Amino acid sequence: MTVEMIFVGTELLLGNIVNTNGQFLSEQCAAMGLPVYYQTVVGDNEERLSAVISSAFSRSDLIILCGGLGPTEDDLTKEVCARTMGIELAENAEVRAELDAFMSRLKMTVTENNYKQAMAPRGAVYADWKRDGAKNGGEGGNDGNGPADPEADHCFLLRNPNGTAPGLVMERKGKTAVLLPGPPGEMKPMFLEQVKPYLVKKSGQVFLSAVVKICGVGESAAETRVLDLVDSQTNPTIATYAKTGEVHIRVTASGKTKEDAQKLIKPCVKELKKRFGDDVYTAKPEVSLEMAVVKLLNKYDLTMTTAESCTGGMVAARLVSVPGVSDVFSEGFVTYSNKAKRKFLDVSKTTLKKYTAVSAEAAKEMAIGGVFANDSDMCVSVTGLAGPDGATPEVPLGRVYIGCCLKGKTVVKEYNFTGNREKIRELAASAALDLARRCILEQCKGK
Ligand code: ATP
Ligand code: MG
Repeated sequence: MTVEMIFVGTELLLGNIVNTNGQFLSEQCAAMGLPVYYQTVVGDNEERLSAVISSAFSRSDLIILCGGLGPTEDDLTKEVCARTMGIELAENAEVRAELDAFMSRLKMTVTENNYKQAMAPRGAVYADWKRDGAKNGGEGGNDGNGPADPEADHCFLLRNPNGTAPGLVMERKGKTAVLLPGPPGEMKPMFLEQVKPYLVKKSGQVFLSAVVKICGVGESAAETRVLDLVDSQTNPTIATYAKTGEVHIRVTASGKTKEDAQKLIKPCVKELKKRFGDDVYTAKPEVSLEMAVVKLLNKYDLTMTTAESCTGGMVAARLVSVPGVSDVFSEGFVTYSNKAKRKFLDVSKTTLKKYTAVSAEAAKEMAIGGVFANDSDMCVSVTGLAGPDGATPEVPLGRVYIGCCLKGKTVVKEYNFTGNREKIRELAASAALDLARRCILEQCKGK
């Protein structure tokens, strides 16, 4: 089943808003292993929208249309899509009653154009999809479970608890259109709770993903190391994604059952872990780098301190975002000035004068100072030049030193990040967490 997406809205074409719905839906479909070959952005124009829908149907089985379901004159997605598909619309009593109730709850007057939202394919009722794709309606009705005759039209409504315009699914002659509202706060829950289980059921496949997350390797280097796997595999599929300071390799398999898909994913994840070794910090989609660090600290019963300059507490904030961190994280220093570095971390005056604050020597003393300051097992330190000003021939913009002191051994690494101030700081925070993780593995693993 091939999927195509159409985003409707002149404001998207003009660059007034960013097509974040496109990113969300693309990511969702990719995670489900649904092939998406085309996406279009089209303005609120009847003729052009109809032409885009027709050409989408000429090459794809299912189209997802997003935006233009509202009450105003320029919201014409439903009308144009129904007409293009040859489906007739009529006022739906249930949606009209809901609209009246909604507006009266808000003490707002219903205007005639509001009722445009109550127009729906004849006989369509709300589907009652559970997350697992189970159905609560009667057999054979227009309720999302599919008609007895696959050639017959089959349309159903999608509940919109966050707005007034319901979503819609229209099936006709083997082609399907899924219509979603534009506001992300309405579209996302509607997709996750109602459309996703529908798509899973419709494709007849279970999709499962694992994400092998890697730190300390660039995207092109990572890709080169898995290119043979990417090229040779069709199920599971393997794709690399660059994230700030990380590379994620998503492995997606489809099968008749969850177990089938799992069986396909397992050897592939094993192979990736073998290839990347300690560069991999997790293979679970829900685990972040900071979670992986906290897990290791717990595992080896270690306490950690942070001593930060240019990241200004970002490393500490990321650690503290992990529930249950209190057992392993005691204190975070933000020592931005030289004075603070001396006062709280005992960095020597001579070091700061001779090598400056952005130096391997300062990072080393900060890490050692952090350990002694509160008697913890380890401390990770960050000092660098995030810019935009202050670069010198010796210290270029983006130069960051990260130190890690663990059990009396201190490691310092030099990094040269690129990007603006924010990006450099984010990259430095990720690198600091990664260095902490590697030091723990090196000193504690298997001991
Ligand atoms: P409404 O009932 O609010 O009019 P609608 O379904 O008609 O919803 P649009 O009118 O197309 O949707 O868009 C409404 C708002 O939703 C836009 O102003 C924008 O804020 C947001 N939006 C629409 N499309 C997108 C998109 N592709 N990505 C991100 N936001 C979007
Ligand atoms: Mg609108």
